[in-house]
Amino acid sequence: MMALVYSPEYLEHKTSNHPESPDRLIKIMEGLDEADLLRKIPIFEPCMATEEDIERVHTSDHVEKIRTFCESGGGYLDFDTYASPQSYEIAKLAAGGVIKASELVLDNFSSAYALVRPPGHHATRERAMGFCLFNNLAVALEYLRKVRKINKFIIFDFDVHYGNGTANIFYNDPDVLYISIHQDPHTIFPSQGFLEEMGGGPGRGSNLNIPLSPGSGTPDYIYILERILRPVFKEFNANFLFFDVGFDAHKDDPLSRIFLDDDFFEWMAMEILNQPQPRVLTLEGGYHLEAMKRCNLKMINLLKEERLEHSPISPDMTEVRDETKKLYRHIEDNFSPFFTF
Ligand SMILES: [Zn+2]
Repeated sequence: MMALVYSPEYLEHKTSNHPESPDRLIKIMEGLDEADLLRKIPIFEPCMATEEDIERVHTSDHVEKIRTFCESGGGYLDFDTYASPQSYEIAKLAAGGVIKASELVLDNFSSAYALVRPPGHHATRERAMGFCLFNNLAVALEYLRKVRKINKFIIFDFDVHYGNGTANIFYNDPDVLYISIHQDPHTIFPSQGFLEEMGGGPGRGSNLNIPLSPGSGTPDYIYILERILRPVFKEFNANFLFFDVGFDAHKDDPLSRIFLDDDFFEWMAMEILNQPQPRVLTLEGGYHLEAMKRCNLKMINLLKEERLEHSPISPDMTEVRDETKKLYRHIEDNFSPFFTF
């Protein structure tokens, strides 16, 4: 069974005329309401993450900087990351939302989806960036490691941007496998997430990037994810799964040049649904409101089921680009010391 985590307080992170706006969550909740899912899926209120929770990941300097910046009225922290006076509190509530979702899947839900903002995957240990203040997912992961003694994690990030914050936080950590599919970082923020960034020291092999060139679409994504996710998920044998959900690789999204259609998100939900471990999803990007509303609804409609036999979609795999096939072979070569494909 699936649970959602949401609070209307997430709308209080006000960003004034910014793509990462409260309208995103308003739209998502509107979609769930229209489909009558708000009555059918249990929704839980988050608690605020404590400063102790946040500081398992972030430096106290960073936490203090966000707190005082918000207290003094907020504004732009960098060229694209905005904070309002309430954002420090709401960012703690966003991290707390992912902790809450994690607790729910350790109780009696098979999936829990934290519908939070601000998003988190670009926030590094010491810095806010890319619309993100605190790294929500990393805070929840360190909470699980410390408080619930869970020790092996996979994070799969399908936001169109590389989650540089999450990747860098766990870069040397052999117990956290971070996998990200994203638009080629030569062509998009944050200009990191290349194939060669494979993890460092004891974490070598635990950072797996799938950078697809602009123009790639659903057949490319499915071709490469089937070949990589399935064997790697099996072999790494994590106790707990996190999914960074992004809708900004959709063809209607104004921030990217990847052209996924709605079907991809159904396919992705099926892949998530068929994993046996506890699974937590957390919302990152997605800036075309209607596309995000539709695709989010499609995902939740599948995830609320216990198990499904057949994928609802069958894309035309003759459309897979040669460069995607080449990219797959390259990844297979690079990661063959770590995984059997
Ligand atoms: Zn994004």
